[in-house]
Amino acid sequence: MVYAYDKAITLKDRNYYLYDKGAQQVVEKELQISKDIETAIEKNEFVTYFQPIYSLKNNRVNGFECLLRWDNDKYRYESPFEYIKIAERVGFIHNIGFITFEESFKLLKELNDPSLHISVNVSPAQFQQIGFSQMFLELFKKYELNYDQVAIEITETFLIESMQDIIDKLNQLRGYGIKVYLDDFGTGYSSLLYLAELPIDVIKIDKEFTSQITTSKQVRGIISHVIGIADELGIEIVAEGVENEKQIQFLEKQGCDYLQGYYFSKPIPKAQVRDALKIVRKGVNG
Ligand code: C2E
Ligand code: CA
Ligand code: CA
Repeated sequence: MVYAYDKAITLKDRNYYLYDKGAQQVVEKELQISKDIETAIEKNEFVTYFQPIYSLKNNRVNGFECLLRWDNDKYRYESPFEYIKIAERVGFIHNIGFITFEESFKLLKELNDPSLHISVNVSPAQFQQIGFSQMFLELFKKYELNYDQVAIEITETFLIESMQDIIDKLNQLRGYGIKVYLDDFGTGYSSLLYLAELPIDVIKIDKEFTSQITTSKQVRGIISHVIGIADELGIEIVAEGVENEKQIQFLEKQGCDYLQGYYFSKPIPKAQVRDALKIVRKGVNG
């Protein structure tokens, strides 16, 4: 495979410059993981899990985030974040990304309910690949879904390079009615200034913030401001990493639109998705 070969060359080059043993071990580990990724794609070991997203307006689960899992004893408990970084560098992210899209479309087709939606994480390398938008748009036709049913989640790292290109491409997709979520808001380079410029429909407040709602007055202040600004810009808010009732009470009071986190459900396999649609918040009669 061309990608693995390219990677080997890159790693060898790097190896050549890095004399320290620790760094060499890292490089060897990466090379091993990239070989395992290649095998995993051939053996269909990458599977998709879905984490419910709860709408506070409708008091029901009406969406899911698609999250990748590796069905292999060696990698089952690894965070996808780690091996996805490698898959991005080697080029396999395109194969893996396609799996997450197809599985999300397939699931929505089976559920046959236009009020349900799924958001899929997209890496910058994947998004910038020629043909990405076409592939995405064709899936809507193939599975006969509405354009607002499958959204993409991007992070701010998208915007470090070729910002205008990316904005144009996002706008093209939004022209069809496809929704764009800004993931992990509040980490990295987040700036409120971005919000005015970015073509986004939804902000996902990072779980690092949610986890500090009960302990930090500053964090509560930031969340409340972000929700207020988003509201003025017509942007909806998902709070990630919601784990307890106190966080929900605060978020609801601030006008947060959606909640996602272990309080409602961990990411689950497709077989459990229908049951997850019945989840209701405590104190709300179903
Ligand atoms: P993310 O997109 O921010 O995904 C949310 C992560 O938070 C998931 O971790 C999820 O399992 C975890 N989570 C959800 N609720 C809670 C909670 O209440 N408490 C805590 N502590 N954690 C919670 P996961 O599945 O391990 O994914 C890690 C990261 O890997 C994702 O972060 C995303 O950046 C990346 N990733 C996962 N699947 C894909 C994919 O298909 N494509 C791409 N490009 N990246 C993916
Ligand atoms: Ca995400
Ligand atoms: Ca996130």
